[in-house]
Amino acid sequence: MLDTDKIAALRSADVPPALHLIEGAAQPASDGGTLPVISPLDGKELTTLARGTAADAEAAIASARAAFDDGRWSGLAPGARKAVMLKWAALIEANALELAVLGVRDNGTEIGMALKAEPFSAAATIRYYAEAIDKIYGEIAPTAPDALGLVHREPVGVVGAIVPWNFPLMIGAWKLGPALAAGNTVVLKPAETASLTLRRVADLALEAGIPPGVFNVVLGEGAVVGEAMALSMEIDVMVFTGSAPVGRRLLENAAKSNLKRVYLELGGKSPNIVFADAPDLDTAVKVAANGIFRNSGQVCIAGSRLLVERSIHDAFVEKLRAFTETMQVGDPLDPATQAGAVNSARQLEQNLRFVSEAEAAGRQVFGGKRIREETGGFFMEPTIVTGVAPEDSIAQREVFGPVLAVIPFDTEEEALQIANGTDYGLAAAVWTADLSRAHRMIRGIHAGLVHVNTYGGSDLTVPLGGVKQSGNGHDKSLHAFDKYLDLKTAWIKL
Ligand code: NAD
Repeated sequence: MLDTDKIAALRSADVPPALHLIEGAAQPASDGGTLPVISPLDGKELTTLARGTAADAEAAIASARAAFDDGRWSGLAPGARKAVMLKWAALIEANALELAVLGVRDNGTEIGMALKAEPFSAAATIRYYAEAIDKIYGEIAPTAPDALGLVHREPVGVVGAIVPWNFPLMIGAWKLGPALAAGNTVVLKPAETASLTLRRVADLALEAGIPPGVFNVVLGEGAVVGEAMALSMEIDVMVFTGSAPVGRRLLENAAKSNLKRVYLELGGKSPNIVFADAPDLDTAVKVAANGIFRNSGQVCIAGSRLLVERSIHDAFVEKLRAFTETMQVGDPLDPATQAGAVNSARQLEQNLRFVSEAEAAGRQVFGGKRIREETGGFFMEPTIVTGVAPEDSIAQREVFGPVLAVIPFDTEEEALQIANGTDYGLAAAVWTADLSRAHRMIRGIHAGLVHVNTYGGSDLTVPLGGVKQSGNGHDKSLHAFDKYLDLKTAWIKL
């Protein structure tokens, strides 16, 4: 049960200006610049962020480099790092409601989801990697009797992490957890429109005992701070979650600088495919709606294309509309709200543009309007677009809003062809009672995650990553360590 009195008190609490964290100290931008933080709840200025400069990014990178090279963190026994990180996770949990409300005021996610998916998920992730790190061994190679081949696993060095505005704590922890547990140091750049909670969590890291310089945060714009990080000669590995154009830019900048490794978790246009033999169509309706409309569609794996077998298409869409009408879109700090605010005025405008273009192309639109304008906040109706052709831009481009494109299909082969017919390959779902068909679809779909008879909800034990232009590398699970641990071979003549 959420404490509504406490939420009410936290929602009006003053939020001090957010400063960088460099070498364990809070610091303003080197030129004194700030950026306003506009709350999507009411369109008003919540606070300001230090507007980082390239010099700020370089100072943070130098701090992380020195902290890595002197071994103040990487030189500790894994069990010692684990103890500090467990304390950090406990501090995040102890401050969970405060963090969740701050995050909602910053990025608009509904509080029920934010609490679970943000502080609690971040704490669980940090704990998972902390617990794992003293259970990871090197290898002895099965080689010739007169040689000894040892394979060590070593931290890579300085990690640059750039994250988006949806689920900043969850996605941030997917990077910070394994990177720090493995002994690396980190420079983190949160998104301009969701920096406040990550910045607060960095203070909690210091309080837990993560040494100064090991985890630095630089606030500000991607085009300035992110560029400086991507062009740095001192960052060894760049981990990124965000859009495909920025991912492309990071690769270019890595090529122009030190060939740092770049791991990308990008967008999606994920197909949710419902066959007529789905075991429970009513559940499929609810899950399809939640899979695109929760957090106003600002979910990387959102099931934004609904492919429905033609024989059930009309009935399914009717049920979907009816269910969608019952969804409560509103004040994200009201625990009853099922879909909160769109993150920014810019994102709202972009969502509305996609819908009006589809309408102009003759598609049928249910919903599609800005709502609650009187609050000054950025809210949008859950929107269903039907009669969509697979090649329409609403079926090809990531909207990243509460907009569902519905496409009918006749055969399994056609469903697969449509499902795979985009540049993306992040997630998908198949609803069917036919086990063989489910397995054929799992094999045939080009995506990093395929659900069967559900959508979303996979936990930390399984990897998440995309194929095609949805990225490379994986967050979550023990596989995430692959990005943060190098293999080193020692070959010894006996
Ligand atoms: P974005 O790409 O605009 O921004 C992401 C981050 O990159 C921000 O911190 C931004 O400041 C920074 N950035 C911008 N320009 C940069 C540059 N030139 N160099 C370096 N950094 C730069 O994405 P967004 O709008 O914040 O987030 C939405 C996107 O993230 C969507 O495409 C969504 O699908 C994707 N996403 C993917 C996953 C996943 O796991 N695959 C998860 C969540 C979100």
